Amino acid sequence: MVKYTEIMIRYGELSTKGKNRKDFIAKLASNVNRVLSDFPMVEIHPKHDRMHIVLNDAPFEEINNRLKKVFGIQTYSPVIKTEKTLEAIEKTSLELMEAIYQTGMTFKVNTKRADHKFEYDTNQLNSMVGDHIFDHIPDIKAEMKHPDLVLRIEVRQDAVYISNQLLHGAGGMPVGTAGKAVMMLSGGIDSPVASYLALKRGVEIEMVHFFSPPYTTEKALAKAKELTGILANYAGKINFIAVPFAEIQETIKEKLPEGYLMTVQRRFMLRLADIIRKKRGGLAIFNGESVGQVASQTLESMTAINDVTTTPVLRPVVTMDKTEIIALAEKIGTFDLSIEPFEDCCTIFAPPRPKTKPKLDKAREYEARLDVEGLIERALAGIQITQIRANQKFLDVSSSEDTDLL
Ligand code: ATP
Ligand code: MG
Repeated sequence: MVKYTEIMIRYGELSTKGKNRKDFIAKLASNVNRVLSDFPMVEIHPKHDRMHIVLNDAPFEEINNRLKKVFGIQTYSPVIKTEKTLEAIEKTSLELMEAIYQTGMTFKVNTKRADHKFEYDTNQLNSMVGDHIFDHIPDIKAEMKHPDLVLRIEVRQDAVYISNQLLHGAGGMPVGTAGKAVMMLSGGIDSPVASYLALKRGVEIEMVHFFSPPYTTEKALAKAKELTGILANYAGKINFIAVPFAEIQETIKEKLPEGYLMTVQRRFMLRLADIIRKKRGGLAIFNGESVGQVASQTLESMTAINDVTTTPVLRPVVTMDKTEIIALAEKIGTFDLSIEPFEDCCTIFAPPRPKTKPKLDKAREYEARLDVEGLIERALAGIQITQIRANQKFLDVSSSEDTDLL
């Protein structure tokens, strides 16, 4: 096994300079620190153009699993920090190659120099280190185009960093650099994917979830919370705001024509999300809508629903096909949970034939028959906020609530 001493992180989309760059790096460092907080021996050194994580014997594999999910990291490499002398470079390079070489493998040496004053240039280093390896691993062959092993040598100001791996990070921007927003999270496939994409752009999100006991079960609520737990892998802890929605749905169903049940329900959801956003200092509302997917997601429906607010309503999956959304849901680990059949509030109160082209004036007119303010006030009074950490479980725990239901 190779014993790496550090992980060297290359930053993501860092076109911005000055203060923004500083904020980016500081936020990334604190996000990395958070996901590695149970490794007290690890040291994090955020520098201007690279971040170094000194392992101090912490296990690389486990740390790697966490880093993969931190936004703002473009690429990273586990490295062995080496003295800036030819002897040291050759020695470390050979030890690394001996640890990973298997009979028949090809290799090449790839040197980069940030310190242009170093006594050897990249070509010289490539050939000298290459020769040293040929001398000690006689069967190994060089291959420039598609080598099995690439020995990467980075000559920097403070030291030389040697690695055989260049790993892809999650990309995007560190969570928290783009401000705060609320995310309308259902138990479906789309909104968890939209959440992931919002986080990827650096937006810190709080989940707003509508639930309708007794029409929806504890399981449906637990499912949305558990989905939040999966997304917390990418964000740290996420606040989950559960909003009781049954009274609003019952009232709408009782008083309004069936064709407008869905539109008016959605107007209430958006209104509530917006009030919560404002109270919590958010700047935008995210949801998982995709154009044309269902009746509530036609452009006409969006117009009739979006009417209740001027706050930006951002829809990260708006142009994606269902198959593309599913592929991403599988990649981020939410898909299997999303397809569990615990029906949420919308499925239960969905009219059989919702209007795909609702009229804005009609929606307003019908809605005016209701005590909008009172309904909103009572829903807000019933809000419950839970802070959810990465991979926290809610469905399989044998809590008393769960057993009551069985
Ligand atoms: P999803 O897979 O995200 O549920 P969907 O394609 O099933 O989306 P809808 O159920 O019509 O579509 O919901 C559209 C969007 O409205 C969701 O992506 C989500 O952002 C929001 N939404 C729907 N139901 C809820 C809910 N119970 N709580 C919070 N937001 C919801
Ligand atoms: Mg849904």
